[in-house]
Amino acid sequence: MTDLSPGSLPGSRRLRFAPSPTGQLHIGSVRTALLSYCLAGEDGRFLVRIEDTDRERFVPGATTGYLGALAWMGLRWDEGPDIGGPCAPYVESERLEHYLQAADRLLDTGAAYRCLCSKERLDDLRAAQKAAGQPTRYDRRCWHLPKAEVQAELDRGTSSVIRLLMPEGESRWDDLVLGPQEFQNGEIDDQVLIKSDGFPTYHLAQVVDDHLMEITHVIRGVEWVPSTPKHLAVYRALGWVPPAFAHVPLVLGPDHKKLSKRHGSVAVADYRDMGYVPEALANMIAFLGWSPGTEEEIFTLEELRSRMTFDRLQSSPAVFDQQRLDHLNGVWIRRLSIPDVAQRLRPFLPQAQDSQLEPIAAMVQERIHRLDEVPGLMQFAFAEPDPTREELIGRLDAATAMNFLRAAAELVGGNSTALMDDLKRAAEESASEPGTIKRHVRDCMQVVRVAITGQRVSPPLPESIDLIGKEVALSRLRRALAVIAKVG
Ligand code: GLU
Repeated sequence: MTDLSPGSLPGSRRLRFAPSPTGQLHIGSVRTALLSYCLAGEDGRFLVRIEDTDRERFVPGATTGYLGALAWMGLRWDEGPDIGGPCAPYVESERLEHYLQAADRLLDTGAAYRCLCSKERLDDLRAAQKAAGQPTRYDRRCWHLPKAEVQAELDRGTSSVIRLLMPEGESRWDDLVLGPQEFQNGEIDDQVLIKSDGFPTYHLAQVVDDHLMEITHVIRGVEWVPSTPKHLAVYRALGWVPPAFAHVPLVLGPDHKKLSKRHGSVAVADYRDMGYVPEALANMIAFLGWSPGTEEEIFTLEELRSRMTFDRLQSSPAVFDQQRLDHLNGVWIRRLSIPDVAQRLRPFLPQAQDSQLEPIAAMVQERIHRLDEVPGLMQFAFAEPDPTREELIGRLDAATAMNFLRAAAELVGGNSTALMDDLKRAAEESASEPGTIKRHVRDCMQVVRVAITGQRVSPPLPESIDLIGKEVALSRLRRALAVIAKVG
């Protein structure tokens, strides 16, 4: 007897990510992709298959966005339909003949049947079942019809679908995350496998492709659990060995409700635009369903691929915590080389010259959690700041502020090589009360910082001055003096 137990397929693992291109790639889906990529392991294969046979939900252009987001995340797939060619993913709408062949086999063996019922009849049936407090399901009217009658209707051109005849008995599988699962088939509807437009539903296409692509393990969201008995019925009817299933729990928002747009962004592309680096996002997402069982928290994708095992997948829902992501992102930004940070900053600083990017990267690397903080932090490099008199003076009085600005201008103009030390010394000397020197120094530095950058928080002054050039820095100091003098 064929061993139909999950995971009984020999050889190395083959896992797939099978998104339906209906919008943008979301955190929940990319989690499935990442777990599948990692759990394929170093010797296994990771495939991407675009499940685009639901023509009503299909969004043109979505596939490109999905593939772009996967590539950005570093989730590269190992094979596709073009043998030896560049790796395009599998696309179900290009593989219709396989599903139609399988449907014919199912019809031939009686595991599936044609259904001629109109949408109106199905709606009425549903409404009547609801009103009677019964579960809504197809009543198998067409299965009971004599074959000749059905054929006559088809010959007349009546449109039809192909339904799976859900067999009697139970469906069981040992889920790699959820443990043993059991469903009574009698409670499961006869699923449509081929729609009236001739396209397969996900349920048939997925089984056929997972079989033909020799998928060993299916990782997908827990919302697919109710579909799995239907899939097992198709495998059985076709005499195929099903893969092992791992249904991973929901990803929750901070309020412990399913992560959705209500929680802000959920699309991977939005996280890229917010200045998260893919290394950090991958690191974060891995923990939404897996844990190493140690205190370690920083992993590269390749480390994850070599470390991850099914037995450490988590069965309880994971919370997507943006603060943790910010923390990991900061750690990851600091792990990158300066040229690498510079390159990643490019889209965030369209106005910067190429030669400015590396100095900027060096100035901000230690200070940021997200790359999109940089335009604000570096605004002073691209636009003249325009601080008000109050902002400039801060906690000083006008005369002290002006004196210190003059001293600073002299130091900057005189090419001081230890500008911060010299500024500090000048500030200390100008302090009137010994007890408040520290605070006075801070206030003095603040005047110069605001004069040169327009900001109370900025990268270090010497580097900021290097970036804008000494002449520009001097003119800003003079302008600040004029602003204070005007009303004072
Ligand atoms: N196409 C399904 C989706 O979009 C895939 C489910 C599965 O991985 O089996 O979620």
